[in-house]
Amino acid sequence: MRLGLIGFPLSHSLSPAMHNRALSVLGLEGGYLALETSEAELAGRMAQVRRQFLGVNITVPHKENVIAFLDELSPEAQAIGAVNTVLNQQQRLTGFNTDAPGFLKGLEHAGVAVSGKRALVLGAGGAARAVVYALRQAGARAQVANRTRQRARELAGEFAVAVVEFGGEEFQEAVNSAEILVNATSVGLKDKNASPLPAGLLPEHAVVVDIVYNPPVTKLMEDAMRKGLAVVGGLPMLVWQGALAFEIWTGRKAPVEEMFSAAREALGE
Ligand code: NAP
Repeated sequence: MRLGLIGFPLSHSLSPAMHNRALSVLGLEGGYLALETSEAELAGRMAQVRRQFLGVNITVPHKENVIAFLDELSPEAQAIGAVNTVLNQQQRLTGFNTDAPGFLKGLEHAGVAVSGKRALVLGAGGAARAVVYALRQAGARAQVANRTRQRARELAGEFAVAVVEFGGEEFQEAVNSAEILVNATSVGLKDKNASPLPAGLLPEHAVVVDIVYNPPVTKLMEDAMRKGLAVVGGLPMLVWQGALAFEIWTGRKAPVEEMFSAAREALGE
């Protein structure tokens, strides 16, 4: 079976290692390719997918734009407005979003209960949309804060959650009282010294979740651990979104632990 990943750039992606390991563990023929694709190449690439691939993952910057090239969307992808997984059935392309359930599976894996919890999500980009949707579905009371206020307001309006202005007193209160704090911004990505929150401004008693997975332990996570808070990194979400995509394509149970190992090895851990 031909599988792949569409995005730009893709040089540091862990997905080929993860999915090729899953295919080989289950003895399935085929391979998962990194298909680096610019905006201008997306239409041609999706035509190639329709002809030649069983399925693909979609990543930055195409998760929203790809919808124009699909025939159908799952209810989750429709509600989130973004697709990270495409299934090809007799040249009919259906878009799914496994980031949202992957995020929840990652929390479940780490033993974090979500229902009824006060959650503060930092960020209002594509990943934040999936996270807010997932938290709402799981019964959390979510608030969102983002550097660009207008983007936070739009997200909050769509998902019926509250907005907290980044910085200021209201923001401090929201951070202090959060039971789950999620970094869904790209701050900290490939930068061990950057955190979306100053070290002095951390929740009192919360699980701190950073969906950035490179580096595996971010500055936010380090600061939180120093304060004695529980932390969850971005790798569980990454592996689970991949495992759920793999199950959509193959109809087989994904070998999740092997996918974790492959991702950790590819990260150099
Ligand atoms: P995106 O759509 O580009 O959104 C980026 C977000 O980060 C926006 O909210 C942006 O705020 C904020 N941001 C960027 N630089 C900032 C800064 N200097 N200070 C404050 N806020 C800043 O990206 P995305 O697709 O949502 O991805 C966000 C992160 O999630 C990335 O690091 C990505 O690797 C990670 N991710 C992880 C997984 C996983 O499986 N673990 C899955 C998806 C994404 P503005 O609106 O103000 O620009």
